[in-house]
Amino acid sequence: MIEVCDVLIIGAGPAGLAAAARLKQLGAGRVIVVERETAAGGVPRHCRHSPFGMREFRRVLGGPAYARALAERATNMGAEIRLGTTVVGIERNGDLAVALTSDTGVRRLKPKRILLATGTREKTRAARFLTGDRPLGILNTGALQSYAEKGLAPFRRPLILGSELVALSSLLTCRGLGARPVMMIEERPAPLARASFMFLPRLLGVPVRCGVRIADIHGQKRVEGVRLVLADGSEMDLACDGIAISGHFTPEASLARAAGLEIDPGTGGPVIDQFGRTSDARIFAAGNLLHPVETAGWCWAEARRLAGFLAISLSDQLPEGTVASVHPGPGIAYVVPQRLVRGGTGLKQLQLRATEPVRGRLATEDKGKRTLSRRRALFPERRLLLPVPDLTQAGGNIVIGIED
Ligand SMILES: Cc1cc2nc3c(=O)[nH]c(=O)nc-3n(C[C@H](O)[C@H](O)[C@H](O)COP(=O)(O)OP(=O)(O)OC[C@H]3O[C@@H](n4cnc5c(N)ncnc54)[C@H](O)[C@@H]3O)c2cc1C
Repeated sequence: MIEVCDVLIIGAGPAGLAAAARLKQLGAGRVIVVERETAAGGVPRHCRHSPFGMREFRRVLGGPAYARALAERATNMGAEIRLGTTVVGIERNGDLAVALTSDTGVRRLKPKRILLATGTREKTRAARFLTGDRPLGILNTGALQSYAEKGLAPFRRPLILGSELVALSSLLTCRGLGARPVMMIEERPAPLARASFMFLPRLLGVPVRCGVRIADIHGQKRVEGVRLVLADGSEMDLACDGIAISGHFTPEASLARAAGLEIDPGTGGPVIDQFGRTSDARIFAAGNLLHPVETAGWCWAEARRLAGFLAISLSDQLPEGTVASVHPGPGIAYVVPQRLVRGGTGLKQLQLRATEPVRGRLATEDKGKRTLSRRRALFPERRLLLPVPDLTQAGGNIVIGIED
C-alpha cells in the first residue's frame, strides 16, 4: 500500500523545519519532512560558528545547536522527520506522488501538498572557470564546513575568495579550525557584504582586497600559492596552502526542474506567487531554493509565513488566477515572487537583487504606466524589499528596473 500524508516537506533545513513546526501548529494533519543527509538542520548544521537563532529562539546559538533546536521544535510539534531519505522524483499527473530512496530501497508516497525546501549550493571551481593546477586544498565553503564538522583542517593559511556573508562564514570556520587566512579577495570593485560586517576580517587581521582575481593556482600535490591580478592590472604571487571559494550560489532546483515546474531564469529556482505556490498549485517552495542566498533567520521567517498559506490551501481556500507577472528590468537580477494573484494577503513584499552595485532610481512599469520610487543604492548580494503593487490597478506585466 502506498503511504499517504497531508504535507510532504523536502529538505530539513531552517525553511523546511520552520514550515513543519508551523504546519503542525496550524493543525495541518500528517506532516512528513524528508532529508537526504543523516541529520536535520541543513546548512547551519555545518556552521560551527554563531550567531544563529536570535529571531527564532531569542538566543545566540552556534549552527549545530540551532539546527538541533529547529529539529526538536518540529518533532515536538508532531512532524515526522525522516533522515537519510532522498526524493528522486515528483509525479504530477493525477494525484501528487513522490519517489523516495533510502537504505530500505525505493518507495512511493502520496502527499496532498508538497513544500520544496531544498536550499542552495555554491558553484564549484570548475563552474567558475578557475584555471591553474589541480592540487589538494581547493574547497568551497560547504565542503570546508563539512571537514570542520569532522574536526579536519584541510589547510592552515588559505586564501578566501568572495566577500559576501558566506565568505565571512568561511572566515569564521577557518578561525574555528585554527587556520589563519592570508587574504580575502573579491573580484568586484567593493565587498559584497555590508560595510558593518566587513569589520570582521579587519578584527581578525585578514587583509581584504577588491577588484582582484585569481589568474593561476600553483602547486602539484597541494596548493602552494596563487597568482593574483590586482585592480590596477598588475600581478602578484601570494603564498597560501589552500583556497576557500565562496559565492556564486545556485538553487538546488533539480527536482523542481525535473518535475516540469516553471523555473525563473533570474533566481534559478521555481517561480512562485505571493502565497509560495509554484506553477503547480499543490506544490509550494520556500527558503534559499527561491533566492540564493539569504540568512537562516530570513529563510525561517519566510517559510513560517508560507506554511500558513499552505495550511489554508489544504482546504482549497487560497485565491486562484494570476493577474500579473513581475519581471526584472535593467539592473535587476531577480524579483520574488514572480507571479501575483488578486485577493488574500500573501507575502506583502517583493524581494529584489541588483546585478551590480548601483545607485539609481527604482522604476516600476505596469500597463505602460511608470512610477519612479526614491533613489536607492543596490548591491548584488543584498536584499531590497518593495511593497507588493496594488493589484486593483495592476495587471499583465510589471517590470522593475533601475534608471539613472
Ligand atoms: C556554505 C554556506 C554557508 C552559509 N553560512 C551561513 C551562515 O553562517 N549564517 C546564515 O544565516 N546563513 C548561512 N548560509 C545561508 C544558508 O543557506 C541559510 O542560512 C539556510 O540554511 C537556508 O535554509 P534552507 O532551509 O532554505 O536550505 P538548507 O539549509 O540548504 O537546507 C536544505 C536541505 O534540503 C536537503 N535536500 C536537498 N535536496 C533534497 C532531496 N532531493 N531530498 C531530500 N533532502 C534534500 C539538503 O540536504 C538540506 O539539508 C550559508 C549558506 C551556504 C551555502
